[in-house]
This record gives sequence, structure tokens and C-alpha cells, in this order.
Amino acid sequence: MIKRIAVLTSGGDAPGMNAAIRAVTRSAIEQGWTVLGVREGYLGLVTNQFRELDARSVGGIIQLGGTMLGSARCKEFREESGRKQALHNLSKNGVDALIVIGGNGSQTGAYALSQMGFPVNGVASTIDNDLVGSDITIGVDTALNIALEAIDRLKTTASSHRRAFLVEVMGRDCGYLALMSGIAGGAEAVVIPEFETTPEQVAQTISAAYARGKSHALVVVAEGAKHDADALFRYLNENYKDELGFEVRATTLGHVQRGGAPLAYDRLLASRLGYGAVEALARGEYGVLCGMKGGQVTTTPLAEVAGKTKSLDERLLKLAQVLAR
Ligand code: ATP
Repeated sequence: MIKRIAVLTSGGDAPGMNAAIRAVTRSAIEQGWTVLGVREGYLGLVTNQFRELDARSVGGIIQLGGTMLGSARCKEFREESGRKQALHNLSKNGVDALIVIGGNGSQTGAYALSQMGFPVNGVASTIDNDLVGSDITIGVDTALNIALEAIDRLKTTASSHRRAFLVEVMGRDCGYLALMSGIAGGAEAVVIPEFETTPEQVAQTISAAYARGKSHALVVVAEGAKHDADALFRYLNENYKDELGFEVRATTLGHVQRGGAPLAYDRLLASRLGYGAVEALARGEYGVLCGMKGGQVTTTPLAEVAGKTKSLDERLLKLAQVLAR
């Protein structure tokens, strides 16, 4: 029977992680359990950094970006010896079950721990939206809106000066954020890791946009694409200087996309998924990822999530291309 759980945030921070910590903590208290927060993800499990969370200690954080528990990447946890140390610390602190708020790698780690017999549930949280088991993950909507705001501004200045902008957005090896911000921002082209786009194709897209009388050209590039924004910028300047019509500029949005206050969608998603992960523990359902599928809170075995990457819907790329006329 569960009396005490621990919660951690792992991997890249995502806006809404705090709302998820709050939801997990308060839902667990509702079950009559006590809650420990683990500092800096798996690193805190391995190095024994636990602290008690009560309803008040998670007050005033729902609107904050980042994560109050901190997050880290932890090499030791990838090794069995590191996970054994984590199990030792969990037992030393009297913890009966763990909730892991994080993305792909974090849920792979959660699966590895659950395979060693410890009750673990995951909460789908990453701005990359690459997790199998959830249509959308905590942080995606806010990161997308931040990227979009930047794109809108760049478009305005691009139009004033007849420029082409290469805008690099985050997403690791997944092109979701780039593709969606490209569609929503009205980009002329989207360059993503899932479908190769050559630098020549980018050059042709930009000069074709100029020939069609556009006042600007916007190319959204995913950070994980084979040719990132800097590489494309260098290529265009070296090979097409003065031939594109537009003067080219490159901007990398980087971590600005992560730091924002979570928007309503992410706060609600985090609240529902945090609650759902605790409910699953309470009904004895362990080793699952709590995510959102078809508008419903669902659970998917971590075995089906670990080490996998959700594929991108090819039709969305077609949509981006059709609407870029
Ligand atoms: P995001 O993609 O949003 O940045 P993430 O959860 O995918 O988040 P990762 O850096 O891939 O971030 O993983 C976070 C941590 O999860 C790693 O530092 C490591 O401690 C743990 N982890 C990742 N893969 C494994 C694995 N195969 N086995 C055990 N632990 C793992």
C-alpha cells in the first residue's frame, strides 16, 4: 500500500512542469499520502536530494515557467549501478512510488526503473512533442506561442526591409515545433529533420517568393535539421549572394522558447496529467505514462513509450507547402 510518493522533473524544462508538480502533490495529499520532491531529476535520486512537499509549498507556482524542483541530465542513471543507488535512496526515504515528469529520455529512464520492480508512473512533458503515448505534451503549446510571437515580429521587420529570415526553433530531433510554428506563422518553407530539404531547395523557395512579389520570405528551421539556420545562412551567402532578391538574415530563438509562463492550455494539461498519474497509482496501475489522447487523459505502458519517438504527420508538411503560395 502506498503511503509516500516522490516526484521529479527531468530532461529539458517545459512550461507547465510546475503546474504538474502542484497537481501531483495535491492529488497525492488527497489520497492521504505524503510527498517528497526530488531536486534535479534523476541526479537528485542518485545523490539523495529529497525534500517534503505539502499543499502550501506548491502554492503560487502554477503560473511560473521552468521547474521549482530543478532539472538535470544524469549519466549515472543510465547505468544499472546508478539506478540501484536511486532505489537505495528511495527506500531510505520511505518512498513507495515515483512520478517522473519529463520527455522521451526521462520516460525511458522511468521504464528502466520500473523494470527493476519499483512502482513508477510518468507524466508526458516536453516541448519537443516527440513522446509516444500523448498527442500533445506539457510545454508544447506555450513554446509554440513564444516561437510564433517571435516569427510574427521577424515577419514585420522582414517586410519593411524586403528580407528573408531563417528562424531556428527548438525541438531536438523532432520537427513538430518548427512545422507547427511554420504553418501558424505563414512561413514560405519549413526545414525539419524528418524530411530532408537541401540548401538549394531553400534558395529556390526564397527566390521564387521574391519572384511572386512577396515582401518577405520566412523559413522556419528545426534545430535538429540536417542543415541548421547558421549552415543555411552561410550556404546562401556563399552561393547565392545578390541572386535571391531578398537579403538574408538568420535568427536562432534558442532557450527563449522554454522560459515563458505556461499558457492556459499547458496549465490545464499539466493539472489533468498530474492528477491522472496519481489516480493511476491509487488504482494500482504502475509502469505507465499518463498522456492525452483524443482529448482524453489516458495511460500507456512505459514499455510502449521507452526508446521510441512519435512520428510526424506528413500531411502537415504538405499543408505548410500548399499554404505558402
Ligand atoms: P527533453 O527531450 O524534453 O529535453 P528528455 O526527457 O527527453 O527531455 P533526456 O536528456 O533525453 O531528456 O533524458 C533525461 C534523463 O533521463 C537523462 O539525463 C538520463 O538521466 C535519463 N535517461 C535517458 N535515457 C535513459 C535510458 N536509456 N536509461 C536510463 N535513463 C535514461
